Amino acid sequence: MRVILASSNKGKIKEIQAILGVETIPYQEILGDIEIEESGKSFKENAIIKAKSIFEKLPNEIVIADDSGLSVLALNNEPGIFSARYAGKNATDKENLEKLVLKLKEKGVNSSKAFYTAAIAIASPSGIFTTHGWMWGKVVTTPKGDNGFGYDPIFIPEGFDKTLGELDSSVKEQISHRKKALELAKILLERV
Ligand code: IMP
Repeated sequence: MRVILASSNKGKIKEIQAILGVETIPYQEILGDIEIEESGKSFKENAIIKAKSIFEKLPNEIVIADDSGLSVLALNNEPGIFSARYAGKNATDKENLEKLVLKLKEKGVNSSKAFYTAAIAIASPSGIFTTHGWMWGKVVTTPKGDNGFGYDPIFIPEGFDKTLGELDSSVKEQISHRKKALELAKILLERV
C-alpha cells in the first residue's frame, strides 16, 4: 500500500512518515505545489478540505491530510486552527511562536495549560474518514531546543520537565497528538 500526503509542512511529513510505516509520498512529488485554502471552521473540516483537494486530482490513490494546531487556555484557546498563520498568512514558525510568547507576556503569565490537536482525514475510493488525537501539556515563554517544529520549543508535555524542542524526537513520536490520530487512521487504512 502507498498513501499520498496532502501536506507541504516538512516537520509534519517527517513525523507522519515515521509513524505510518507504509510508503508515504508528499503530493508535491506528483502534482507540484498547489495552494489549498483552509476555509474550514475546525481541524476536522480543514483536514477534509486538504485530503479532498488532492484526492480529486488523484482519484485512484489513498490521500491522507493532517490539520493540527495548538490551543492555549490563557489565550481563550488561541491560536487553534490559526496556528500556522497566527502572525500572518505567510508567517514562519518562529514568528508564530514569538507572537504567542508576546501574547502570554501581555497577559502577565509565564506559562499556561495548552493542548495540541491533530485531525487526520483519509480520502479514498471507499470514502472519507477522519480521526483525532490530542496531547496535553503547558506552554512557557522561554523557548528551548531545536527538535520538532512549530511551537515545540515552548511546549512541555504532561509528565515531562523539558520542552519538545529539547526532548528526543522518539519521545514525541510516542506521545504526540499526531501519533494518536495516526494510530487510529492506521486501523482505517487496513479497511479502505
Ligand atoms: P496546518 O498545517 O494548517 O495544519 O497547521 C499546523 C500548524 O500548527 C503548524 O504550522 C504549527 O504551527 C502547529 N503545529 C501542529 N502540530 C504541531 C506540532 O506537532 N508541533 C508544533 N507545532 C505544531
